[in-house]
Amino acid sequence: MQMARLAGKVAIITGAGRGMGASHARLFAEQGAKVVLTDLNAAAGQALADEIGAAAVFVKHDVTRLAEWPAVVDAAVTNFGGVDILVNNAGILGPLADTRDLTEEDYHLVCAVNQHSVFLGMKSVLPAMLKRGGGSIVNISSIAGMAANYGFPSLAYVASKFAVRGMTKATAMEFGKHNIRVNSVHPGFIQTPMMVEATDEVGGEALAQIPLGRIADPREVSNLVLFLASDESSYITGAEHLVDAGMLAH
Ligand code: NAP
Repeated sequence: MQMARLAGKVAIITGAGRGMGASHARLFAEQGAKVVLTDLNAAAGQALADEIGAAAVFVKHDVTRLAEWPAVVDAAVTNFGGVDILVNNAGILGPLADTRDLTEEDYHLVCAVNQHSVFLGMKSVLPAMLKRGGGSIVNISSIAGMAANYGFPSLAYVASKFAVRGMTKATAMEFGKHNIRVNSVHPGFIQTPMMVEATDEVGGEALAQIPLGRIADPREVSNLVLFLASDESSYITGAEHLVDAGMLAH
């Protein structure tokens, strides 16, 4: 029988109450990981932890607050003995406003949730990973962290997702000598509540931009995140990984 791909690993996944975070959590648990799920939405996060069972615990957590991170790391250490993997997944799209209409408050909120939280998460988890002798951090960016020509996300979303890519590389350079790998993932159009809330339907014009001609199931991103989290990607760090059906291939 094939060994589970994350056997013996402990993972923290933020924004795991729904969407891609929930999909990553299910796949990680199926592959033998113990998972600490965090989200603002306690009902959804706890329901998923209950569904997964003894391999999961849920911690209500606002990723933008440094003071709330130690409880997340403690949950991993106390329940499962340490931290091997961090998936900084929580994110918001924010208003789909052009730059003239984007408020300073909205700009700060999008950058706090999408960008600042990635710094806080890495800062909080690195000491526990160092104790384990290594680890893998996967930061969820977007195609909007690679190119800004898709029109609908705001300047704030694009800025925050470009920043995630840069912070990923900086931390990979800094902690490679400690066997801690850091990569960014750049999804295209993925069928999640965030996307449904942004647009009722991804229609003809948007679909025409996608060489594979369809929206992704979250599991198709989870498969990449699983690979980067696992030891299968042991020589991969500081890199950006597109999962966009070829959208940026032009
Ligand atoms: P989603 O369906 O909206 O799920 C995001 C989760 O993050 C929600 O459960 C949300 O909780 C939680 N969250 C929001 N703010 C938080 C905070 N401050 N602290 C803790 N949790 C928070 O989004 P998704 O589509 O799965 O997106 C996941 C990641 O992929 C995001 O970083 C997003 O930017 C990125 N992404 C998505 C797409 C796409 O097409 N869907 C494409 C590229 C990149 P609430 O429900 O309480 O708000």
